[in-house]
Amino acid sequence: MLRIANHRLSGPGVSHQATPNTGGALRPRFVVLHYTAGRDTDSAVRSLCARKPQGNASAHLVLGRDGRIVQLADFNVVTWHAGVSQWAGVNGLNPVAIGIEMDNAGLLHREGDRCVSWFGRAYPEDEVVLAEHKHGGGVRPWHHYTEAQIERALELCELLVAHYGLEDVLGHEDVARGRKLDPGPAFPLAAVRGRALGRGSDAPPRWVVTATRLNIRGGPGADHTALGTALRRGTELILLEPLDRWSRVAVVGETDLEGWVCNDFIERQAVPRSGLVALHRSQRQVPLAAVARRAAGRSTALPRPTTSRTRRSEVSQ
Ligand SMILES: [Zn+2]
Repeated sequence: MLRIANHRLSGPGVSHQATPNTGGALRPRFVVLHYTAGRDTDSAVRSLCARKPQGNASAHLVLGRDGRIVQLADFNVVTWHAGVSQWAGVNGLNPVAIGIEMDNAGLLHREGDRCVSWFGRAYPEDEVVLAEHKHGGGVRPWHHYTEAQIERALELCELLVAHYGLEDVLGHEDVARGRKLDPGPAFPLAAVRGRALGRGSDAPPRWVVTATRLNIRGGPGADHTALGTALRRGTELILLEPLDRWSRVAVVGETDLEGWVCNDFIERQAVPRSGLVALHRSQRQVPLAAVARRAAGRSTALPRPTTSRTRRSEVSQ
């Protein structure tokens, strides 16, 4: 089991190597998850512990594909992982965020029938997830995360949320929109976030549909395909990823239905917290292995964007 004492992690598979790339006192409010876009765990640790002429980078933890963890800095010290970033009114997340770098080659590209990383390594089919990023860009190949890595990431997030009373579990892609794509669609961020936050005292609130009928879509925008039939007024939702205009939600009572709705047509519902925690647990306790498989499987079945001409006028967004 993982533990934290004096801002240092201990437990099976945990080792320490100090990075010189640190600065100032950290008051943790968030976890930010990344992929390394690199070759392997050791090269990521070397790079994050190196002083460079330009662009020194670091993080608190590196999470290997076998689940091993290297801690590079104590959790009360700022590391340099988020760069230009903003979330919840905070500009520059490094002074308030614990950074976790996960060993993963990131976005791949096709060379003939092979999927290849930016550093030229080809990955076999069973290590590639074909998926569209939640910020668009079409279906592309991404290096998959191992189940050991995903389970360990969840364990880490749960521990950090509980220990530091963190407000949220975020991806670099959330706090540096348009600039960063990590951890990307191969990582089940919404599920990890939901479970990590749900075990604490601050379960996500329930929302309701205020439009007569509201489309739930495959992506954040009216150009994304509607998933199934439109939601009726009063349908209850759990917010998974709030963005400026659209939010990713899970429909209460339909454990498999997740998608995007326009924020103009939902509103927050007051619900007793005790009920929420129970609801959250019953709704969100999906085995992570299944989540990982589903994330992988979703890839090939991703709906293609359609034009707005196909929208039904009586259905909101
Ligand atoms: Zn990153």
